[in-house]
Amino acid sequence: MSQGFRLGAFTIHWLQGGEFEVDGGSMFGVVPKVLWERKCISTPDNHVRLANSAMLVQTPQGNVLIDTGLGNKLTAKQKAIFRVRQEWDLLAGLARFGLSREAISHVILTHGDFDHAGGVTRQNETGGWELTFPAAMHYIQQQEWEDVLAPNKRSADAYWSENFAGLAEGKNLRLIAGEEEILPGVRLVCTGGHTRGHQAVWLESGGEAALHLGDLLPMPAYSNPLWIMAYDNFPLESIAAKEQFLEQAIRADAWLLFYHDPEILACKLDGDGAVREGLCAE
Ligand SMILES: [Zn+2]
Repeated sequence: MSQGFRLGAFTIHWLQGGEFEVDGGSMFGVVPKVLWERKCISTPDNHVRLANSAMLVQTPQGNVLIDTGLGNKLTAKQKAIFRVRQEWDLLAGLARFGLSREAISHVILTHGDFDHAGGVTRQNETGGWELTFPAAMHYIQQQEWEDVLAPNKRSADAYWSENFAGLAEGKNLRLIAGEEEILPGVRLVCTGGHTRGHQAVWLESGGEAALHLGDLLPMPAYSNPLWIMAYDNFPLESIAAKEQFLEQAIRADAWLLFYHDPEILACKLDGDGAVREGLCAE
C-alpha cells in the first residue's frame, strides 16, 4: 500500500493509529461466537484484534485525515486495560509520504469515541498537550459535539475531554448539521446509530466512489445489517442506516473503507452483500 490506493484524483493511505483488543461480546452483541469467530481474528479468551486505521486522503484541494487513532496519551494502565498491542504511529506514517502534521488541512471525526478521536491532541516532547494537526479544520456533527460536551451515561466512558482540548468552534472546529460537502468530492452525512451524531464520509472522484461508515461498518463481517456492536447506543437506527448506506454503496459500485480491520482495508460488495473484491494490508 506504500503507493497508496487510487480513487480518481484522490489517493488513500491507511495509517498506524494503534492496535488493541476488545471483548468479542462488546463487538458483536447478540451474534453468537460460533458465527463471529470465523469472520475476524480472535484470541483464546474471546477478544477481537482491532486496528485503528486513520485514513489519509490526498485530494487536489487538501490533505484530509479521517479519524485519528488511539493517540499517544494513554497511560500504562489504560494500555493494559485496552490491550494495546501496537502503538499509535501516525506522524511517522505521514512523514513516509513527505507530510508534516502541519500539512493536514482537514480532520474528519466519524464520532468522538477515544479510539477515533485519541489523536486529535497529542502529548508533545515537553509533556504538554497540543493539537496534533494545528493547521487543520476539524469536522464533527453538531449533535456529536453537543454529546461530547455533555455526554450521556453510556458515552461518558468513551468521550475523553483531553482529546478535544484546544478545539474551538469557528477557529479550528466546524460543526456539520446533517450533510455537507466540505471539499469537492468529500461529503459528510450524519448516520446516527453508533452514537447520536455519528457520521459517514463519501469520497467521489473521477467517476469512482468510496464510503467510510465508521463504526457502523468497522470490518466486512458487519455487512450483514443485523451485525452491530453492543456499543451502539441506538441499535435500530444502526440497522436502518446500514441498510440504506450499503444499498447506496452497492448501487454506486463504491469501495467500503474499514477503520478497525487489521487485514482487510477496503472491499466492494455484490448485490446480495457478499464480498466481491477486497484490498488487503501488506
Ligand atoms: Zn471504534
